[in-house]
Amino acid sequence: MIDINKIRTDFPILAREVYGKPLVYLDNAATTQKPQCVMDKITEMYSTVNSNVHRGVHYLSQAATDKHEAARKTVQRFINANIPEEIVFTRGATESINLVASSFCRSFCKEGDEILITAMEHHSNIVPWQIQADIRGLKIKVIPINKDGELIMEEFEKLISPRTKLIAATHISNVLGTINPIDEIIRIAHSHNIPVLIDAAQSVQHAKVDVQKIDCDFLVFSSHKIYGPTGVGVLYGKEEWLNALPPYQGGGEMIESVSFEKTTFNKLPFKFEAGTPDFVGTAALATALDYVSSIGLDNIAEYESDLLRYATEKMLNLPGIKIIGTAQHKSSVISFVFNKIHPYDIGTLLDKMGIAVRTGHHCAEPLMKIMGVEGTVRASFAFYNTKEEVDMLVKGLERIIKMF
Ligand code: PLP
Repeated sequence: MIDINKIRTDFPILAREVYGKPLVYLDNAATTQKPQCVMDKITEMYSTVNSNVHRGVHYLSQAATDKHEAARKTVQRFINANIPEEIVFTRGATESINLVASSFCRSFCKEGDEILITAMEHHSNIVPWQIQADIRGLKIKVIPINKDGELIMEEFEKLISPRTKLIAATHISNVLGTINPIDEIIRIAHSHNIPVLIDAAQSVQHAKVDVQKIDCDFLVFSSHKIYGPTGVGVLYGKEEWLNALPPYQGGGEMIESVSFEKTTFNKLPFKFEAGTPDFVGTAALATALDYVSSIGLDNIAEYESDLLRYATEKMLNLPGIKIIGTAQHKSSVISFVFNKIHPYDIGTLLDKMGIAVRTGHHCAEPLMKIMGVEGTVRASFAFYNTKEEVDMLVKGLERIIKMF
């Protein structure tokens, strides 16, 4: 059970007003707010152990290293990776995908090879593959979706060819909220010996993700979307895959030994962590993950799906509304458009009422084209949102409809 009153007090920003109105924050798919414990951890790190990690023999360096490596173990437990070395810290989901795209394609792809993605990918799971496609003459193939925004799985199997080298799919769409059948995607891919990268940027904060159970080869997510600080991300990779990939960036930390003639590389995970890592951020991410675990992902999933049901029902009563993304299995995201009212106008007017939503293409321009819209308004809910806030959104939309 979610104790909503207690939870809301954990997030100080939720008590603030904007334009003299209580803040209603419904832009959680873009970034989540931070509980006090995460902010306290950042202060604690800088005020008690700040020192560069891994290199120093002195007390502070050791203490900072311990916190950073403990954070790796927390992430390992959170997604149930086999060993901590399978967790690579990055700057975010975007950098994690760029790392895999760059290192994987460099080693495993030749001209004419194919990468399979879905029609509902965020730009960060499209463009890194396109960059590699341009460099190496690869082809990108796209798994289509139906009008509800669900993958057409029969088409997926048909798109697999002997040249398919990797499948990169989002677990949950940041626009449609569709929860993709990743178990099935991975099972089918593996039956063809094709590795799978799962973009979990929109899923780890909503439901339990167990990398060993789903058996993905790579999985990425961002700290800031799961109540942690910005600028930190995670790449999970199966040990054998990470060992098989060449380094992504060069620099300190990722080397074993360097001479002007030749460099040998460090072991996992440091081979992929060039330069000083954000050890304050990783410690604070661990605090965020512990916080989420203390509430319980099952409780979060149940609370948010009730909120989604409530919001969908209420919003469908609004005249002229069209919800974009009506999959059977959906996470707590509602994208919508109205006849004759531009999404940007809706977003701007809601903002003046204290309600924060996102408008535009949500970094998924190809998906907008497929769904036949230029952009949408997106309300995305977290476990600290309430039915009263949904009512405020609906009231705000009713006022806007009257104005037009
Ligand atoms: N993938 C998905 C599905 C997303 O929604 C986002 C961000 O909105 C990203 C990747 C990129 O995340 P970041 O900007 O934190 O790297």
